[in-house]
Amino acid sequence: MSGLRVAVVGSGPAGVYAAAALARAGDVSVDVLDRLPAPYGLVRYGVAPDHVKMKAVDGALRKVLEDPAVRFLGNVDVGTDLTLADLHRCYDGIVFATGAAVDRRLGVPGEDLPGSFSATDFVAWYSGHPDAQLDRFTLHARHVVVIGVGNVAVDVARVLTKTAAALAPTDVPGHVLDVLGASAVTDVTMVGRRGPAHARFTTKELRELGEIAGADVVVDPADLVLSPAEQEAVDGDRTLRANLEVLRGWAARTPTGAPRRLFLRFWLRPVEVLGTGAVTGLRTERAGLVDGRLVGTGETVDLPAQMVLRSVGYRVVPPVGLPLDETTGTVPHDAGRVLRDGRPVPGVYVAGWLKRGPTGVIGTNKPDGTETARSLLADAPTLPRAPERDPDAIVALLRERRVRAVGWSGWQAIDAAEQALGAARDCARVKIADRGTLLSTAFPELSAEADTPSR
Ligand SMILES: Cc1cc2nc3c(=O)[nH]c(=O)nc-3n(C[C@H](O)[C@H](O)[C@H](O)COP(=O)(O)OP(=O)(O)OC[C@H]3O[C@@H](n4cnc5c(N)ncnc54)[C@H](O)[C@@H]3O)c2cc1C
Repeated sequence: MSGLRVAVVGSGPAGVYAAAALARAGDVSVDVLDRLPAPYGLVRYGVAPDHVKMKAVDGALRKVLEDPAVRFLGNVDVGTDLTLADLHRCYDGIVFATGAAVDRRLGVPGEDLPGSFSATDFVAWYSGHPDAQLDRFTLHARHVVVIGVGNVAVDVARVLTKTAAALAPTDVPGHVLDVLGASAVTDVTMVGRRGPAHARFTTKELRELGEIAGADVVVDPADLVLSPAEQEAVDGDRTLRANLEVLRGWAARTPTGAPRRLFLRFWLRPVEVLGTGAVTGLRTERAGLVDGRLVGTGETVDLPAQMVLRSVGYRVVPPVGLPLDETTGTVPHDAGRVLRDGRPVPGVYVAGWLKRGPTGVIGTNKPDGTETARSLLADAPTLPRAPERDPDAIVALLRERRVRAVGWSGWQAIDAAEQALGAARDCARVKIADRGTLLSTAFPELSAEADTPSR
């Protein structure tokens, strides 16, 4: 088929890598739509600000979005601004790569008390996500408990423990840096339900916790005693072995009396967020494994906290009524082709976290997005052709609905404004968090006309 037209919904790594593979095929035009005015998904709004090298992945993603065969259309929410039928009218194939950035809940009493948040909320706030309320966090708490021992929990604990001065050279928005600068936090406690041999953090991320200036890492040696089965698992896994080595090093250290302390606690199962009116602590129950199953011992351990952040994973919420496989928690698919009742839905595909769940690193999305693109290209000769072939029709339709799509020039204006803010703080970039400011930066003519973009 000549002149294939494809919409990729979601400009995170999976969407962009899928777009790259489609554009490489030639004679394909790809629109990459995102509900946010800025591209790159969790690379921009998830990867921690002090992970500068990892964030530099956006350079590779940018090259794809600058390809003449690819067009970025930000500020377009598929499901709200456009229906699946709208997309079918304008595109021969649609790849959904909308991620899985909805947090899981703990399901314990007190979870909704003021002072109890999801790590997703905290990450969105310090990353300057346009959906995050600017004043969502105050950091008046002295003790913070982070529930979870995965890499996101590690990110969150690190950001809370670092000084504002250490984070000033990063892209954190100004209002976030102000709050971090006034932070009352002295103690951050990470809590794992299981033991260190089950924790999912990677060694590099774990090790960084020990390198935070002005903070002691505290580990109880008793938590590091392994059962024979755990010892066997650790012996057979390089990452676990290295993690245990790092943790044992910390357990052997004498605290230096640094102003901040970061505790890593294991075998504590959260049972209740304590407090009346606001969080005062986390009640946990000491736990252990019996025949591979986690069971409580009946002994409760209360941890004082004025703020609790849960980091217990993400889940997929399929867009536009796509099916969900309850067992895998993902959209059912065959090499990226969406399946409904076991049959491919013509012209509809998935990639990234939506397709395989919240696992893997950014690089994992490359083969994943490429696989989906290959399936779409293989199906191309039999795909029903979209009736609307004018590339501008989608933009006109959005305008009719009072939605201003942020094109590449709009994003470049935002990019330049953020770099200018960065120059004033002596760093590469300072993020603009406020959606209104992002849009008025993308559309300066609208501010002049005093005509406000719809979202
Ligand atoms: C807090 C956090 C930190 C991480 N840090 C690292 C790290 O340091 N290193 C690493 O390798 N990996 C890291 N990851 C994992 C990595 O970010 C993911 O592997 C990757 O982003 C998944 O890509 P994706 O494209 O599937 O989803 P996402 O990156 O989530 O992109 C989805 C995109 O879809 C858009 N979207 C959603 N709904 C709609 C809609 N209805 N209409 C239009 N657009 C929509 C979103 O705005 C977003 O831009 C981290 C993840 C998290 C959550």
